[in-house]
Amino acid sequence: MHTTASDGALSPPALMARAAAAGLTVVSVTDHDTVAGLAPAGQAAAFRLRLVNGIEITSVENGRDVHLLGYFIDADDPSLSLFLERQRADRVRRVREIAARLRALGCGIDEEALIVSAASTPGTSIGRPQIAGALVAAGHARDRDDAFNRILGRDGPAFVPRRGSRPEQVIEIIAGAGGIASLAHPGLTRVDAIIPRLAAAGLTALEARHSDHDAGVERHYRDLAARHGLAVSGGSDFHGDSGQRPSALGAVTLPSDDFVALESRASGNK
Ligand code: AMP
Ligand code: ZN
Repeated sequence: MHTTASDGALSPPALMARAAAAGLTVVSVTDHDTVAGLAPAGQAAAFRLRLVNGIEITSVENGRDVHLLGYFIDADDPSLSLFLERQRADRVRRVREIAARLRALGCGIDEEALIVSAASTPGTSIGRPQIAGALVAAGHARDRDDAFNRILGRDGPAFVPRRGSRPEQVIEIIAGAGGIASLAHPGLTRVDAIIPRLAAAGLTALEARHSDHDAGVERHYRDLAARHGLAVSGGSDFHGDSGQRPSALGAVTLPSDDFVALESRASGNK
């Protein structure tokens, strides 16, 4: 799940309160390119539910984003921290480039306000979701989906390709921080062809269960995971109750057998 440390709607404590109220027992916060939400989430989770330290890191494969989830990571690992700082700095660079394109298109936003506001809470990561919000607020788009569909998406006029590390490097960073890597929402990313390569590079799991996967897609990735000796991860990818891709908190969970198998791989790493 995501918090206000990246593009989620709820603060870490608010998210933990909602998760506990929903009856969840084990959850993970996996913000984009930041671990800033983990400490406040962990304090709020306290005795009510178990928080698995997580992250969702954007890697780049052939100019396309490939999201890798890291679970059971040491949030204080120095190499991970340095890597994430660079990821967030590149996000700021990209936000400025996108904003310059928006200005040229006649739909400028105040990107420095976004950057300053994110910087007010150290470790906050920003990106297109916040730009989409600014486009809506400025009346340049109906809603965030409209902003992505017409302007910010891959085929949109303000799209700026990302720079970044290859998936293999990200898997190594996650492993170096004591965690295990899972390929996020593979049914959306659709990079099946590179799964054998990533498995050989130390990928541990595929996120077969996801709020945007139907039963057939889940089965497909469970089969692929089995074929490559990978475990299965899953979750709601909750970002908030409304807006883009709303998914109900707790509506998609990981069966406990899968969680036990995933956790045993993590302890095998230590
Ligand atoms: P960025 O990391 O800045 O490239 O922004 C990508 C993020 O935007 C994704 O991880 C999603 O969480 C979010 N997002 C929200 N709406 C959309 C959409 N319609 N299409 C693609 N991504 C979206
Ligand atoms: Zn997100």
